[in-house]
Amino acid sequence: MSDNRECEDFSVFNIVISIVFQTSLKLNITKHGILMQTNNLTKKYLLDYSREEVYTFVQALGMEPYRGNQIFKGMYVQLLSDFTNLTTLTRSSRDKLNHTVTLRTLKLKEQTASVNDDTIKFLWSLYDGLKIESVIIYEGRRVTFCISSQVGCALDCKFCTTGKMGFLRNLSSGEIVEQVLLMKQKAKRPATNIVFMGMGEPLLNLKNVLKASYILADPEGLAFSQKRITISTSGIAPAIRKLTDSGAPFSLAVSLNAVFDDSREKIMPVSKNFPLNLLMESVRYYISKTKKRVTFEYILIRGKNDTKRDADQLIKLTRDIPCKINLIPCNSDDPEFPPSTTEITQWFADYLHERGRTTIVRLRKGWEIKAACGQLYADNETKIGKKISHNIKEKMGESS
Ligand code: SF4
Repeated sequence: MSDNRECEDFSVFNIVISIVFQTSLKLNITKHGILMQTNNLTKKYLLDYSREEVYTFVQALGMEPYRGNQIFKGMYVQLLSDFTNLTTLTRSSRDKLNHTVTLRTLKLKEQTASVNDDTIKFLWSLYDGLKIESVIIYEGRRVTFCISSQVGCALDCKFCTTGKMGFLRNLSSGEIVEQVLLMKQKAKRPATNIVFMGMGEPLLNLKNVLKASYILADPEGLAFSQKRITISTSGIAPAIRKLTDSGAPFSLAVSLNAVFDDSREKIMPVSKNFPLNLLMESVRYYISKTKKRVTFEYILIRGKNDTKRDADQLIKLTRDIPCKINLIPCNSDDPEFPPSTTEITQWFADYLHERGRTTIVRLRKGWEIKAACGQLYADNETKIGKKISHNIKEKMGESS
């Protein structure tokens, strides 16, 4: 399929997504994100603002330009939850800010730790009562913050609990950033990696995901390493191209999970729209433009995608692609998707490794507290959102 056709498909896909997902939720979201209604006062959610937007906002409040940087540092270096203790400002400036803006909209509802305390899961309530989860994973020296980009997810991957919820709404950039700020205050050690592998398909909320990533990497704030922020996708090929063309400096992970179209469609309905040839083309495009390697996530499901034929095809698909392959024994509770045995997992890893693929077996961390990959959240939400499943093309027809 030509690039144009692919872009057309993507724009129709986006239109369908927006038509299908305009829920009855009246979100109080403006150009600059969320407005919070508190005590009859509408406050702006300053975490939705980039540094430059904070500077502009501060000047519009009548403060000197240099105050912008003090305020930004207060938000991201001092991790202030309001401006009461930002003593570099006058009391009247602090009062004005506290009356005009808010820095926190997430409320911690539940915190659950795994038995050996190496995985901590957080359930947050959002300003509109919807809920999301985020996870801290300690693995040797690595400390990973796994964050959500959407409430629920439309893509209905069959092994994924989040997918069973359907899509409820996108998170604003500030809601994405706030997950990191709150977990930073709770973590035993600083994060080494931030991954968009919580709830949602990040590339269907690309604008806010990118804005949040730039804020997290801002050298005047958290200064998080750009390459250690990983944006993952279930394989929306045109969005990978869009991400590439945006010039974003962040890393990319693709959830591959199956290497033949028929088997992939069975577990990831979105691949009916974006089959493997399109997906791999977009990955090659990303690599040729960014000169970076990509990470492929491959969930191992016993008897479904862990045979020699699968391994051979995975090697074929990734030929000439600078990549790392993460193998993850499936975490699904559904007996239809059991994890591959330890022996098969190791055999699969060795087979790939011997054929020149960098392969890492990821432990099923946090499985017992439902914090592992594909396990987040459905238990905690009673609302069920929309799903785009096998019939996206038909829905495209209906909406045109
Ligand atoms: S695996 Fe990712 S893309 Fe698929 S349903 Fe779950 S959250 Fe969505």
